[in-house]
Amino acid sequence: MGFGETVLGFNLTNSLYGVVQSAHVMNQETMSKMGSLSTGSMSSMHMRSPFTNPFWWLFPINPLSMFEMYLHGSLFQTVLMAPYMLVMATTMAPFYVIMMGGEMAYLVYERFKRARTAYLKNWTLAIIVGIPIFVVLIPYYTNFYVFGMSGMIFPVTLTSFIVSLIAITLASTLFGRGVYCNLVCMSAHMFSNTFFEQFNAKRSSHIWDYLRWSFLVPMLVAFSLYVISQVHIVKMSIDPLNFYGMFTLNYIWWFFFFLTPVFGTYACARQGWCGFGTFVGIFNKLVFKVKAKHISTCETCESKDCESSCPVKIPISQDVLTKGYVNRVSCVSCAKCVDSCPYDNLEVKNFISLIKR
Ligand code: SF4
Ligand code: SF4
Repeated sequence: MGFGETVLGFNLTNSLYGVVQSAHVMNQETMSKMGSLSTGSMSSMHMRSPFTNPFWWLFPINPLSMFEMYLHGSLFQTVLMAPYMLVMATTMAPFYVIMMGGEMAYLVYERFKRARTAYLKNWTLAIIVGIPIFVVLIPYYTNFYVFGMSGMIFPVTLTSFIVSLIAITLASTLFGRGVYCNLVCMSAHMFSNTFFEQFNAKRSSHIWDYLRWSFLVPMLVAFSLYVISQVHIVKMSIDPLNFYGMFTLNYIWWFFFFLTPVFGTYACARQGWCGFGTFVGIFNKLVFKVKAKHISTCETCESKDCESSCPVKIPISQDVLTKGYVNRVSCVSCAKCVDSCPYDNLEVKNFISLIKR
């Protein structure tokens, strides 16, 4: 996991080289004032491999020199971009993401040990084994990251992006949103880990049921801007997809993560700030279900342990009593409700259970 995140950091920070280089060309005079620290960083720009550039393991781009570069720009650049670059380059630094990857792997292992039901045990095992394979081998060989769609080379990786998008939506249709939100994206394990379960929100607000759709809009706008800039209808100095991806990963993510005691766990899915997660969740509606074995058991149940364990605070018993199952867009198919029901009354229905019937 850590390695996969490192590759992501490598891709994202390398894609920023383009912005740095154009700034360099546009403002040679300013750049010449930057001193020896920046010169070192610029020369390392040509060493894009972690095997040929030992400094890459610390910082693929020196955040201090990037910060300094923007201090020499316009007031807008200084105020907006300098702190952005500083935070981005730090949180995407390999040593940092390796540390985060290690922590996430440990958290999934802890959940594996505590799981009661076979489904959750198998699922956590699939995460531990599957994430490194998926993250290292599958998405990154195309040099883009589906969450932020960063680092695309038009039109080559647009094609592979679309192929991957089809694969993700198909997998989510067959197995639920968790295929993306647990198996591909590691944020879920950070947002819903053992320690932060103390901050599990007590209940959710209906406001997020509506607001989450508005978080999809910036993602779609960034993607559209990217496409029209690539076909030269408009000219943009910054890749809107990279900007969107990095802004989401390096600001919004950390904002919600550090404020977990305020916003509760799993903010990405519950508040819906992850536009791609919301998009993937639409496919929950087709095959995937968390189904009650006996609706009458839920009618008389007083504990409602399923709801207190649900990280996105879905009113499970309400859904069960009206439809017999849960398949909301926000459901991340984590199966915590299945594991926590004292009457073992819930089961996950997906493609596998469909063909077993
Ligand atoms: S699923 Fe289990 S915990 Fe939830 S309401 Fe039904 S019986 Fe109670
Ligand atoms: S309803 Fe169950 S499977 Fe869905 S998010 Fe809540 S706990 Fe996880």
